[in-house]
Amino acid sequence: MNPTNDPGLRSFIEVPKDSHFPIQNLPYGVFRSKSNQYARVGVAIGNQVLDLGALELAGLFKNTALDDMVVFNRRYLNGFMALGRPFWQEVRARISELLRHDNPELRDNQTLRKKAFIPMDKVEMLLPVNIGDYTDFYSSREHATNVGTMFRGKDNALMPNWLHLPVAYHGRASSIVISGTDIRRPHGQVLPKDAAEPVFSPSHLLDFELEMGFFVGPGSELGYPISAENAMDHIFGMVLVNDWSARDIQKWEYQPLGPFNAKNFATTISPWIVTMDALDAFKVTGPVQAPPPLPYLKSNRESTYDIKLDVSIQSEKMDAPYTVCRSNFKHLYWNIRQQLAHHTITGCNVRPGDMMASGTISGPDKSSFGSMLELTWRGTEPIQLPSGEERKFLNDGDTVVISGYCEGNEYRVGFGEAKGKLLPVKS
Ligand code: CA
Repeated sequence: MNPTNDPGLRSFIEVPKDSHFPIQNLPYGVFRSKSNQYARVGVAIGNQVLDLGALELAGLFKNTALDDMVVFNRRYLNGFMALGRPFWQEVRARISELLRHDNPELRDNQTLRKKAFIPMDKVEMLLPVNIGDYTDFYSSREHATNVGTMFRGKDNALMPNWLHLPVAYHGRASSIVISGTDIRRPHGQVLPKDAAEPVFSPSHLLDFELEMGFFVGPGSELGYPISAENAMDHIFGMVLVNDWSARDIQKWEYQPLGPFNAKNFATTISPWIVTMDALDAFKVTGPVQAPPPLPYLKSNRESTYDIKLDVSIQSEKMDAPYTVCRSNFKHLYWNIRQQLAHHTITGCNVRPGDMMASGTISGPDKSSFGSMLELTWRGTEPIQLPSGEERKFLNDGDTVVISGYCEGNEYRVGFGEAKGKLLPVKS
């Protein structure tokens, strides 16, 4: 095992037992604070943010591969992400070493400690990556089967291509927002029930989609596919994703080219990028793939991760969020190696900071369905909230919170949350 993942490691910074951010995690984010409005890179540790920009200025990465490079006093993580795994691993080892309870280097440097640790509730998290391209996959067999059953009937639920390739579409990077950003209900074309012509109206069937996304580190050259075998050299880390969806707009527009306006108005991501090196300790075997994928999609079956996921809703009448779904990343049929290999098999190049989302992550039973569409079975079985309210889809004022973590022995490596409140249409 990588020593930075040792469950026995402890930091001199106190980490509450249920915290998502123990010393084994060390996720990267970009933030600014009241006292310093300059955006820079940090890692989360317990309830604190460790300012890597401050450590960089103090010369604490000087004898690592980074040496004199400026990668953390930057608005975005793209430059660091482009460096590749050997750099990431050396920096991770260095940060882990600096945070250890038995290392005096940072622990006993009171001046630097004062500058470098900021309470998490005192910082503003920013979009950590300048995302050039965003692709959304459709990799959950359960989700594809549920949606297919609703729209085409049980016998034609999965399209003939689905078990042969990881289906995806090119999404919209410009409307990806950081957790906490309000989401505006969109207007669009919808076809009323039994009508022959569409009308222009606010979307009435607003939904969330429980997803996760990974970020590309070093990119690839046009014309050169990335193999499933080498894919992990190109994947930096992962975040939680809410792919907000307007189902009524989607239903009218999606054929023949897939979703467009139904999904381009907003996508929320969590602020902390958990690295693949941290997730390594939580690898599990994915589902059996039958028929066997074509050779270019063959991958080590132990290529997925045990990440517990949940979704909660809080209406304006409620004091606390109410969990409506519990799922797991490991349910996905197609893994991230296969997604990247398929994406680039044509020679399509990828660039540092590109984001690939998984598609809605639904599990086998009803409580694990990752969208309102499935949870309420197209609105026919409404969800009862503890406030006495009922939901078929989302109402104005509802806040949706996606959370997720890996469970270790008495510690958690988590993602924090991806949260957004739905506002009424602009009048
Ligand atoms: Ca989606």
